[in-house]
Amino acid sequence: MKTSNCVGYNQITPIIKVVDYCNFHCNFCRYSNNPHKSSMTFQTFKTIVEKACDYNISNGCYQLSITFHGGEPLLWGYDNFVNAIVLEKELKIKYPQLDIRNSIQTNGSLLNDRWIDFFSENNFDIGISIDGPEEINFHKGDTGNKTVIENIHKLSQKKCKFGILSVITNDHAGWADKYYEFLVEHDIHSVGFCYCMYDEDRQITVSNNILTDFLKQFFIRFYEGEYQLNVREFNNVFKLCLGLRTGSCSFSKRQRCGNFFSIRPNGDMYFCDPYSLETPPLGNILTETFASIKAKPELLKIIAAAKEGALKECGNCEIKNICGGGCYRSSSLDGKNAFCETFKSLYPYIEKVVRSFSKKCRGVIELHLIYLEPMSSMGYNRAKTIMSNGERILVSMNGLYDSKKIECKDYPVWDGDRYDESWSSDSWQDSHRNQIVNFKCLHDIYNTQSQN
Ligand code: SF4
Ligand code: SF4
Repeated sequence: MKTSNCVGYNQITPIIKVVDYCNFHCNFCRYSNNPHKSSMTFQTFKTIVEKACDYNISNGCYQLSITFHGGEPLLWGYDNFVNAIVLEKELKIKYPQLDIRNSIQTNGSLLNDRWIDFFSENNFDIGISIDGPEEINFHKGDTGNKTVIENIHKLSQKKCKFGILSVITNDHAGWADKYYEFLVEHDIHSVGFCYCMYDEDRQITVSNNILTDFLKQFFIRFYEGEYQLNVREFNNVFKLCLGLRTGSCSFSKRQRCGNFFSIRPNGDMYFCDPYSLETPPLGNILTETFASIKAKPELLKIIAAAKEGALKECGNCEIKNICGGGCYRSSSLDGKNAFCETFKSLYPYIEKVVRSFSKKCRGVIELHLIYLEPMSSMGYNRAKTIMSNGERILVSMNGLYDSKKIECKDYPVWDGDRYDESWSSDSWQDSHRNQIVNFKCLHDIYNTQSQN
């Protein structure tokens, strides 16, 4: 097992905009009509990766999560991606403990066998931007959903690690069932939802009423269905309801704001991922370091505003330990999260389900460790728990409960009371990782329930 002091708050996660243009023309996207099309030089990419690596290692964190982003990142070209892997291999020779993870967010239209084999061989997590069935999907090019769906089928056939990211809009009203069936039909097993503000005028992609109805109805299908599905937002709520920690920054009480930087092709760096191309940069990575940018008053001011906003608005909220105030980028000028109404309705609803789930676990209250299996294309939301008497039991993170006891000799048992938050990026991939998490809280939850 790797040794690292990385706890998620001391690592830089670069979101690298290898190009800032796209072959699609989505109306809500700032890159679709960007007149200043530019592409990152490989030297700039190299500088970013080396400096991020230096920063993380000097903070005791031998991990680096790289997100290839855009615009449409495949427009950067195949050779650059090959060179990126060569660079990473060189860094791993220099720092044998270093663990680099790659992810890419793409519209999926340019994928072909060569790309898919490359991403598969190099263990990329692939996120496809698609909002659901054709009628409610606004991420589409000249051929509509067709090419993207064909490529999703290829990813599935080749058993690649992939999921979709869907922007939820008012057009999703009444579409939760069809959205769920769309996932089943196309063999999609991992999904993240994006509901956000999308421009400097603080427009939101979806109203709270529509979002709440959509998520609740989708949750019912998810929870009652047999289909193996990882839903990023639901998994985060599950973990937090059970007293576990989640790596997703938007559920982390904004403690991780200031560790994610998007970097434009010319090296300009920004807090997180700004909504406007006109946002002034914090600095440029070609002439500065991550440490110097992290110390800048402009950034410290943003981080303070993020934390103060959450404290002010959420201080007395009954569900603040689950919600954490949501993403700072969805805060209105008064500091209130634009989706607060949805959170207040949805999270207690899910919590109720989780608590009834933990109650069902009467037979396993002695367990103290849980081992989430490595992601596999079909079974990644299964978890194997280890009971203190050495027996194991299968529990599914979607709430379904399988009391079948299984042999456990293939699985190591670690000492309790430790978290391995080694992979705590704000992405759907998070729940695909091996994680060791303390599970004593289940006992506490059960006891609380017994007393009530
Ligand atoms: S539900 Fe609203 S008030 Fe409560 S923690 Fe979340 S954003 Fe803050
Ligand atoms: S919580 Fe929001 S603003 Fe903060 S790092 Fe995450 S995505 Fe960015």
